[in-house]
Amino acid sequence: MQMVARDVYQLPLTPRSGVNAYLVGDVLVDSGYPLHFKKLLRATASRTIHAHALTHAHADHAGGSKKLKSMLGIPIWVGADDAAGLRSGRSEPGDVPFGRSALKSYMKFPGVEPDRELREGDELAAGFVALETPGHSPGHLAYWREEDGTLICGDVFFNMSLATTAVGLHTPPGFFTPDPAQNRESARRLAALQPKLVLFGHGPPLRDPIALSAFAAALVD
Ligand SMILES: [Zn+2]
Repeated sequence: MQMVARDVYQLPLTPRSGVNAYLVGDVLVDSGYPLHFKKLLRATASRTIHAHALTHAHADHAGGSKKLKSMLGIPIWVGADDAAGLRSGRSEPGDVPFGRSALKSYMKFPGVEPDRELREGDELAAGFVALETPGHSPGHLAYWREEDGTLICGDVFFNMSLATTAVGLHTPPGFFTPDPAQNRESARRLAALQPKLVLFGHGPPLRDPIALSAFAAALVD
């Protein structure tokens, strides 16, 4: 667990920050794939966690959420339009030419009942508020702290290549993104905030607002 900003810790769940969770104040943001659960518990063992919030209800972010809720007895918060996906443990893939049903079963995770549905402007912890950033999922949320320009962007941007794990900005893969055009809108919105620090679901932290703006400006519809 590594402190990346005041009251914010990164929890890399795989090497090279391939899958991340974050501790924000006393709220744990995301839980990785189901297989990361023990690692997540070990990493946060010395901390008191009062709630678990999601950026979105996908298997690599909500995979351990059901177990977290039952073991720690903490409430789960999710973007309102991802509540149904969290409940069912199913999420919509992108537009793929074939293998849609295989992809859907790959994307399944243990469903769990959310305790709170978050909307634009709702407070997370430690000065962060939720921003509705749909596209990669219908109820995708980013978390923003204006005071020091820290942004938890979820999967609106990736800061690594899924193919090679090389560090660099990308949009999320099309096969996991039901509405890429809407995600580009969300990407432009987040880049316009000119965040000083961006924390990703996938990839290491980025402290380069100009690189983020340039990337977002080059996105083509
Ligand atoms: Zn993801």
